[in-house]
Order: sequence, then structure tokens, then C-alpha cells
Amino acid sequence: MTLTRRDQRYGAQVAGVWTSVLGRVRRSWDGLDSWRDADVARFQRQALPVILGGQRTIAALTASYLESLYQELGEQPPRRPLDMDRVTGRSLRDVDPADVYRRPFVTAWSSLADDEPLDVALDHGARRLETILKTDLQLARTHTVREVAADMPRFTYTVRELQGEYDCALCIVASTQRYHKRNLAPIHPGCDCIVKTVTADYDPGQIIDEARLEQLHRVVEEATGQSDRGARAIDYRKIIVANDHGEIGPVLGFAGQRFTGPDDIPLPT
Ligand SMILES: [Zn+2]
Repeated sequence: MTLTRRDQRYGAQVAGVWTSVLGRVRRSWDGLDSWRDADVARFQRQALPVILGGQRTIAALTASYLESLYQELGEQPPRRPLDMDRVTGRSLRDVDPADVYRRPFVTAWSSLADDEPLDVALDHGARRLETILKTDLQLARTHTVREVAADMPRFTYTVRELQGEYDCALCIVASTQRYHKRNLAPIHPGCDCIVKTVTADYDPGQIIDEARLEQLHRVVEEATGQSDRGARAIDYRKIIVANDHGEIGPVLGFAGQRFTGPDDIPLPT
């Protein structure tokens, strides 16, 4: 797994968008002086344009990244411009973003109803906000890959490149596999992997380096309560699967894990 200079440049550009959008949205949340039902709309007036703008920037960066990969094959990139409405905003979850970005408030209110102090309740709300937002920024990327790759006949599969800045232990296994380009690349909340398109003969390989394997052991141990340090990487392919999540599509998780709500997936830590 080696990132080319192009991968690194694109990865750094997207990471910059994440940092800026996460920071601005978090400041809008923290800057509310009350978090009642009446404050939801005020928060959304500030945050939703920032979030949509971030998704659009990531979509544009991703489209030009894929175009440069395609040109490297000596091919002409597609002439059809990317339809932003298909890869951002409501299209990502098929749910109105106003409903999605009300959920952090619901989390805070239910913590208060459980007699948590206000600061703890707000912290729970802020964490849910962060999870939702990171997921949406990554969905803008995966939806763009699917949309743009549809017009690039030389590409057949998608693969992922780990960036390592955020926790993507589940993606260590996923990075040894390829997925058909017509399917959304499976993600998990917090996933910031680069998703790239490749030709049919590209082999992502099965090699997992020692440091990443150790990280994977730890996550599997936390999630399943068992570890098998002698296990070969191939065994993990049976533990880590892509579950279909009704709202956000394929989500990497552990075999047997079930979702009960729209985004009740814990962030791996
Ligand atoms: Zn990832």
C-alpha cells in the first residue's frame, strides 16, 4: 500500500476540507446558547450550507482525481459534467439533511431525560454530530466515485488506500479487496480512505503490514472479545463484512453485527 504523490495531494486536499467543515460546524453547535427545539433551525441555517459546500468541494476534488487517473491510462475523461445533486445533500441518505442534522439535538435531549448534566448531554450530541458529518463527507466521496466511474469504461473496480490519519482498522482488510465500481464502496463512520478506480487486472494484494495488523488485532479484540494473534490476515476476511445499512448503504462491520437505528454504529476508537 503506497500512496502516490497524486494520492497524497488529493488526500491532503480532502483532509483540509474535513478539518475546516468539522471545525466550523462544531463552532456553530458550541455557539448556540440554548439547544431547545427552537434552536434547531438556527443551527441548521448556519451549518447546512457549510456541510453542503464541503460535500461539493470533496465531490469536485474526487472527480478531478479520478480524471487524472484515467488520463494516465491514455484515455479521455468523460465529457459529461458531474451532477452535484446526485452526489451530495439529500441524495446521500435519501433523507432530508434537516432531519439528519436534528439528530444531535435528539441525542442531547435523551441524555438530559436520562438525568445527565447539560455539559455531558451536549458532549453526546456533539459526538453524534461529528459521526454524522464525517459519514456524510465520506459518502460524498463514494457517491462521486460511483457516478464518475460509470463513464470510465476502462475501470472495472474500486479499491481503497488507507491514509491512517483517522482510525480505519476495518478498512485494513477492505484495502486488500476490490469492489465492483457500480457498488458504493463500503465505509464505516470515521472512514477517510481514498477510494480509487482501477482496471480489471489490478490486484490490490493481500499483504497487511505488521503495524496495521497489530491495529486490526486490537480492534477485533475490542469488538469481539477474542483475539487470535496467530491468525493469518485471510481469517479476518470472514470476521469483517459489509452489512447493508438502510440509510447509508454498505457499512464495514463485524459479522453478526446488526443495526437497529439510522446511525447507531459506534465509531471505532
Ligand atoms: Zn477507511
